[in-house]
Amino acid sequence: MADSKITKRRATSPATATKKKTAPKRKAPSVDNPGKVLKRSRYTKAETYAIFQRFHADNPEPEGELDYVNAYTLLVAVVLSAQATDVGVNRATKHLFQIADTPEKMDALGEDKVREEIRTIGLYKTKAKNVILLSQQLLRDHGGEVPDDREELEKLPGVGRKTANVVLNIFFGQPTIAVDTHLFRLGNRIGIAPGKTPLDVEKAMERIIPPEFSLHAHHWLILHGRYICKARKPECKRCLIYDLCKSPDKEPYDATPEIAVRTAALVAAGKTRLDAE
Ligand code: SF4
Repeated sequence: MADSKITKRRATSPATATKKKTAPKRKAPSVDNPGKVLKRSRYTKAETYAIFQRFHADNPEPEGELDYVNAYTLLVAVVLSAQATDVGVNRATKHLFQIADTPEKMDALGEDKVREEIRTIGLYKTKAKNVILLSQQLLRDHGGEVPDDREELEKLPGVGRKTANVVLNIFFGQPTIAVDTHLFRLGNRIGIAPGKTPLDVEKAMERIIPPEFSLHAHHWLILHGRYICKARKPECKRCLIYDLCKSPDKEPYDATPEIAVRTAALVAAGKTRLDAE
């Protein structure tokens, strides 16, 4: 697998649509406070399909934003990313992965040195301990290889279901859905995959995502939640699914934003943004 590259969500053209009136302010759904949870998706199969067609047309090959050079460094980067930004993790791992890109090297480096390397990241003491423990466990139980199995991954220190799903999806190409804060909010805010817990949202996503889009769905939704449908205030003017979205939080405009019109045209023409560039 090729090295990861940092990819930023492409800036979209400003919409020509003008806002009609301010939507009532609501707290964005979060794991701690999901609010009123719908019983089922607000969207029909066809509507859900149309949403993922737009994501595909806009970004046919989405990539994660964490830097890594192999399955092991991806696993470590994801463990370090809990309650930290990808940019912050990349800054800390730049040197770390130059000197320790295998479980053997990390174990030899030792917990104190790992702690020094990652001290700019939140919870660095616990994370350094987990990185050493998981490296030792990989050496002991898996011959130093990262297993491509969720159950085995979840046995590693500091690795939960979300981390396991990210590694399985990004490195092993499995169609897993890792529900982080962005996916949880999106599932409930736009009502496409509602659920009270991350696991409920993960299961709901698995039910509704059309199979041909399931490999990249996780990335599209994270990028959409991170850069467009943000927690505090969704940037509906830059939203490529504006006209399909049924969220009560959607900003009302007098016209569909240009990005949504343009992406719908790509879908209708059977093209992606890459073809059009
Ligand atoms: S229209 Fe607004 S609320 Fe709906 S998905 Fe887009 S950004 Fe989120």
